[in-house]
Amino acid sequence: MQPTFNLVADTICRTAELGLTITDAADAGEFTVINACPVEVCDKCPGCGQAGRLRDHVVRRLTDLPVVGFPTRLQVRVPRFLCLNQTCAQRIYQAELDCAERGRTVTRRVTRWILQRLAIDKMSISATAKALGLGWDMVNDLALDACRALVYDDPGHLAGVRVLGVDEHVWKHTHRAGEPDSFVTVLVDITPVIDGACIGRPSSDRHRPSNAVCTLFETTTCVWSCGSEDRES
Ligand SMILES: [Zn+2]
Repeated sequence: MQPTFNLVADTICRTAELGLTITDAADAGEFTVINACPVEVCDKCPGCGQAGRLRDHVVRRLTDLPVVGFPTRLQVRVPRFLCLNQTCAQRIYQAELDCAERGRTVTRRVTRWILQRLAIDKMSISATAKALGLGWDMVNDLALDACRALVYDDPGHLAGVRVLGVDEHVWKHTHRAGEPDSFVTVLVDITPVIDGACIGRPSSDRHRPSNAVCTLFETTTCVWSCGSEDRES
């Protein structure tokens, strides 16, 4: 591993966990621009696996976590290589960064940060987007993609689900002509409630649905028991 260029800056911005080291920074008004380079570089060709020859460098621009309240833009100097293998279809390739998926313009930790702000801090997408200096649509797409990956990348995500609660929820409180419906249908796994296995409730109360679930029962259109055609209203 190469020595870091700026240990203090790397410590404050936690760039070490990105596999980057800061080389320079600038106050760009609404944004903080951080120039960085990878600590380690893999020169292997993605097509054939052979080491390539350094060709040049390009700057990859990424959105990273806000620093002291200002949106941050990373400008990472990334090497490009020439594949010398005559039988390989890949000619020129850019070194991949561990901190960002190929083709993405945000770091992986930004996506995680978005989910944390939305789920834990109950921040709105608008406020989250403003903190990052990104558009609403982009933050919304990142959150939805991450949620889909969390759910569908786990083939056992429906394991143990026997009872579902169904409700409708107002997704947004404005509705303009021509826009899609602002209601979404929410499916909730209430198997632990039915089984009396709710976490964090007194043992004497475990066989009663929580208030939230009572409300759900009152407003739900129906509850299905998986594996049965019985329907309750
Ligand atoms: Zn190659």
